[in-house]
Amino acid sequence: MDMAELLGPDGPLARHTPGFAPRLQQQQMAASVDAILNEGGTLIVEAGTGTGKTYAYLTPALLSGMRVIISTGTRHLQDQLYHRDLPMVRRALKSSAKIALLKGRSNYLCRYRLRLTRQEGHLASREHIAELRRIHAWTKRTRHGDIAEVSNVPETSTLWPRVTSTVDNCLGQDCPDLSDCFLAKARREAQAADVLVINHHLFFADMAIKETGFAELLPGVEAIILDEAHQLPEIASHFFGKSLSSRQLLELTRDKAGRCSSGCARFPRSRVTLAQALEIFTLPLCAKRSA
Ligand code: SF4
Repeated sequence: MDMAELLGPDGPLARHTPGFAPRLQQQQMAASVDAILNEGGTLIVEAGTGTGKTYAYLTPALLSGMRVIISTGTRHLQDQLYHRDLPMVRRALKSSAKIALLKGRSNYLCRYRLRLTRQEGHLASREHIAELRRIHAWTKRTRHGDIAEVSNVPETSTLWPRVTSTVDNCLGQDCPDLSDCFLAKARREAQAADVLVINHHLFFADMAIKETGFAELLPGVEAIILDEAHQLPEIASHFFGKSLSSRQLLELTRDKAGRCSSGCARFPRSRVTLAQALEIFTLPLCAKRSA
């Protein structure tokens, strides 16, 4: 069956997906994705809202028999793809492809640090005590340890850093909870998956710092699909760009002008003049920023 039939009015997607509407552009996009997966190369697709892009890449990806990574723009989209769209298309296609979800380390509960926090008991507020109780209750039910599942503790709670891990405080192989570690389990499942769902932040963070547990997956991957690709430049510049604020620039000019506390200059006139010129240029930027 070709992509037009699979996504057509009598295809499996139409038969098994509630509310599915066959669309010509979706079939055309799926055919292009299918061709590039088979032939190799790079494909850039721009398609308007309502095209049904997700099904147009999931269908050929699931049927390709390849190890595919799909990266989404946000963690919210990542969850939606993994928990809703991917299982639906897989069911409709009767695919046996193994799927997995991988997020960054700070998204997984750390059993060791949770235990430590409960034992230490130094919590800043009653709110934190109640939140810790809720997190502990959830730990007994969760399979993935993904903290996005905890709806009754705010994402902004300052308790989260105490019960999740960082590269520096993770005990790794020396951890007494390693066999039950949610992060280690997510990484193992990611390694065994045919279709792995990640997000652009994880993708770039790994390139930048090489410690997201994602680098070791790449050698076996045959195709990468970047959804919401228009977000890539901004996210990439966050990890690889350098930024200089007008305030930093102003501080630099004052430093280079060598001002002493009483305003006298300690450096040669040429250097002071140059720094002052830069300061004159920078000041309006600072004023604009603080307005
Ligand atoms: S291995 Fe690291 S992340 Fe896992 S439970 Fe131990 S300290 Fe936490």
